[in-house]
Amino acid sequence: MLRLTDVNTYYGPSHVLQNISLEVERGEIVCLLGANAAGKTTTMKTIFGLVRATSGSVNFNDEAIERKMTGDIVKSGLALVPEARRIFGRMTVRENLEMGAYSRSNKQEITHDMDHVCQIFPRLQERLKQVAGTMSGGEQQMLAMARAMMSRPKMICMDEPSMGLSPKLVETVFDTILRIRDEGMTIFLVEQNASMALNLADRGYVLQTGKIVLSDTAKNLLTNDLVRQAYLGG
Ligand code: ATP
Repeated sequence: MLRLTDVNTYYGPSHVLQNISLEVERGEIVCLLGANAAGKTTTMKTIFGLVRATSGSVNFNDEAIERKMTGDIVKSGLALVPEARRIFGRMTVRENLEMGAYSRSNKQEITHDMDHVCQIFPRLQERLKQVAGTMSGGEQQMLAMARAMMSRPKMICMDEPSMGLSPKLVETVFDTILRIRDEGMTIFLVEQNASMALNLADRGYVLQTGKIVLSDTAKNLLTNDLVRQAYLGG
């Protein structure tokens, strides 16, 4: 469904992504693991056209998207839950959800989907009128996920959904990711929390200083020596 082939991305002279190739098949949860500054967020930004790859291709549903505008990429069915959530802090929860549907016009369908995401995230239902910036970190993460779902995506990319959350909330977020997948969503997950991510994902890639150094099933990665030493605390 999503395929990156030999992608290279630079910030000025700094060669941040070096020949990245990876793919995510329909219905899978695939995670990208890596330490600080490995290039995980840059991978996400490159997929969404927020930074441009210098070479290589990004395909979504057999269509080249590496030259498309971010808004058109979202319209084609790919949604992003960005790092640090980036909800609209001064807007209400309802307005944030409406923003997620900005590229859609069928009001009836939007209302239906609003009800549906509120079922998945009951906490948001209770807080539709609350100013989003006053919610807890966990609630904001739920809102960021719900907002992404409001674009009716075929696939969701999530950048470090566990960041800054308590272990209990991380569990809730990861349970919700599984639930969304069980409803038929395809998910690409960037995470520093390797243990949680590998227990959730079908497959994973390991990114080290801009290069993919490992790719395997999540089960095999959990017992891989390099992964255990570098990302699972031995
Ligand atoms: P983290 O988990 O800490 O967010 P990451 O794996 O997501 O790390 P990136 O944010 O992709 O890493 O950064 C990869 C490298 O690119 C880092 O060395 C970072 O300093 C650099 N970098 C990121 N954004 C820019 C930018 N806008 N301009 C210049 N360098 C950047």
